[in-house]
Amino acid sequence: MRSPIRRRLLAGAGVLLALVLAGTWQQLGSAQADRNPADALSRPPTEAAPQDLVLGSADAEQPQTMEEFLTAVTKDVDTYWTGVFEESGLAEPRVTYNWIPAGQTAASACGDESGTLGDSAAAYCMADDTIYISQQFASNIYSGALDQALPGSSQGYGGTTGDFSVAYIVAHEYGHQIQDELGLFQEYGGTLPTMAFELQADCYAGTWAASAYQENRLEDGDLQEALDAALAVGDFNAGSPGHHGTPEQREEAWYSGFQSGDPSACSEYLQA
Ligand SMILES: [Zn+2]
Repeated sequence: MRSPIRRRLLAGAGVLLALVLAGTWQQLGSAQADRNPADALSRPPTEAAPQDLVLGSADAEQPQTMEEFLTAVTKDVDTYWTGVFEESGLAEPRVTYNWIPAGQTAASACGDESGTLGDSAAAYCMADDTIYISQQFASNIYSGALDQALPGSSQGYGGTTGDFSVAYIVAHEYGHQIQDELGLFQEYGGTLPTMAFELQADCYAGTWAASAYQENRLEDGDLQEALDAALAVGDFNAGSPGHHGTPEQREEAWYSGFQSGDPSACSEYLQA
């Protein structure tokens, strides 16, 4: 299962689709890996070489499967936040993660009626201090297969494609774990709407991306992938307690974090 990404890239779109349907596709390669920002929305099938976020040093072995990628991004984000916390004299943040294999479920305090999370999971669960992301969900984000199902992209806002759209989601969920570490849910949970925490988590994802950018580890299309993914997951349920923010609000929150590179500036989203 650990064939090189480039070899997998040569697989045609039909093969890719079949493997996704079989629920076994976990490779990062995609026939839709063109990262030119100008092409990001149309996403023409291409066999262009992947331009990926560099995890660790440029000569370090890069992840070959979605499972490895999720772990590597989480460690990367964790390293960033460990540094931020150290500068503030705080103890190292700690979190557990669970990358649910395709077709399987994981028991969680945040699970459904049966107490489990499955193929649609992408969440930080405060009750068991664990980030859950379904590998199938992450692969579908990577390939854009969920664009018709996500609230923003199904209405023409953005879309998801490529490694950095997945990295955005990982960094966002890790942002919720940071909120938990900082006691923000306890402090503001009773007074502020869900959206405040969601936009702050987007902003936190942006500050991590800024650090990777400063370290020269982003490729040209990565910024656009994150912006398009933030638009894609925005929703329009402004009257609902579960409203996460409109596409524009989520894009703006991520970008403000990316521009400032300063997590403390993300506190603005907790101002009532
Ligand atoms: Zn969230």
